[in-house]
Amino acid sequence: MSRLLLRNFRERPDVAVSASGLRIRSADGREVIDGSGGAAVACLGHAHPVVLEAIRKQIETVCYVHTGFYVGEPVEALAEQLVGHEPGGLTHAYFVSSGSEGVEAALKLARQYALETGQPRREHVIGRRQSYHGNTLGALGAGGNQVRRPPYAPILPGASSHVSPCYPYREQRTDEDAAAYVQRLANELEAEFQRVGPDRVMAFIAEPVVGATLGCQPALPGYFRAVREICDRHGALLILDEVMCGLGRTGTLHAWEQEGVAPDIQVIAKGLGGGYQPIGGILVAGRIIAAIEAGSGLHRHGHTYAAHPVACAAALAVQQVIRDENLVEQVAIRGRQLEQALKRRLGQHPHVGDIRGRGLFWAMELVEDRETKRPFAPGIGMNGRVKLATFARGLACYPVGGTIDGVRGDHVLLAPPYIATEADIEAIVELMAAGIDDAVRALPRPSK
Ligand code: PMP
Repeated sequence: MSRLLLRNFRERPDVAVSASGLRIRSADGREVIDGSGGAAVACLGHAHPVVLEAIRKQIETVCYVHTGFYVGEPVEALAEQLVGHEPGGLTHAYFVSSGSEGVEAALKLARQYALETGQPRREHVIGRRQSYHGNTLGALGAGGNQVRRPPYAPILPGASSHVSPCYPYREQRTDEDAAAYVQRLANELEAEFQRVGPDRVMAFIAEPVVGATLGCQPALPGYFRAVREICDRHGALLILDEVMCGLGRTGTLHAWEQEGVAPDIQVIAKGLGGGYQPIGGILVAGRIIAAIEAGSGLHRHGHTYAAHPVACAAALAVQQVIRDENLVEQVAIRGRQLEQALKRRLGQHPHVGDIRGRGLFWAMELVEDRETKRPFAPGIGMNGRVKLATFARGLACYPVGGTIDGVRGDHVLLAPPYIATEADIEAIVELMAAGIDDAVRALPRPSK
């Protein structure tokens, strides 16, 4: 009997005994290609020697200090690496241990900014349906994940509401072009500001490329410029959650670079430490820091493991490897190959409704009927079936999905490490396609 609790009480995952590059080996000797880097985390693959050495060195010098007394040597260097060049006006970095903690820190900083600038009525955060910002209560409240939220709705912090995501595959009308759809979404956001009261909104939060709930869904051109304009006009902060899509994953270091806007607060996590250590963080615009410095000078927030020296040493090494080996450019190159191969191999597949993504961040929306876009019935659990079938063939892909207006979208996500070779990408796409076919063949036949 196992005494270990995992999210799914009935699931017993394999025991991983070794991992290097893109390959993970389990106790029974099986080897699997890590096609999704776990949950879009392992951006350098496994056991990268530079990162291992940095961790070893840090552990042997200072394992842990509390930021009330000291900071470890790599912490300042990591902040300098990320915001020393002040990308988009982001000047400061704060480090925590996960994406959810980063979102909590961002929300609390937004509230504190409102207080320090004499706007105590600003307490409301607007998020989007089908956005996921984490499982802690504040982050779950800000997100619109309609699968994970409902059981906890009564205990979520109250001051949040949600607008539609940018989801052209299902929500762009046939009688509107991209510009008209973007305008409709902007109107909806404006109307939500008016409903709440523009002087009560402290922030709008969104993922530039939605990961866990909508399967690698980028926004249409102009969407984030419209959002930025609305936030600015009403004095609300724009928080961009790049926990999953950030730090090179989409082919630019920050996903927002492709939108022509910068956030006031950016949340980062998965690609920050690449899974070598648990770490997340926020990058903050200079004007927010200046306002707080002119006021209390305190971020009234903190964690025992904030700016953990070993986690920061690992993240610093990961970020240096990404820079030194030009891996963001590599993501763009391999990403084009992945896109082309997926579209060639699965573009006409009867159960693949949409293939979308950016860089090395791609997902397929699985449907029962490609013509009508009819999703699989919720009880089928198609994304889970594809995950298992693909895993049996030797590829780990990540099943994601959520419910929207009663429609369930089944997605499977690929997020290969940035070090993937041309041959790796070909192998991943072949195994993915074969796994989808296996899962379709194993579907229960409809009863007559
Ligand atoms: N934000 C986004 C966009 C995410 O994808 C996730 C995790 N999937 C989180 C926040 C939460 O991060 P964590 O699981 O590290 O708490």
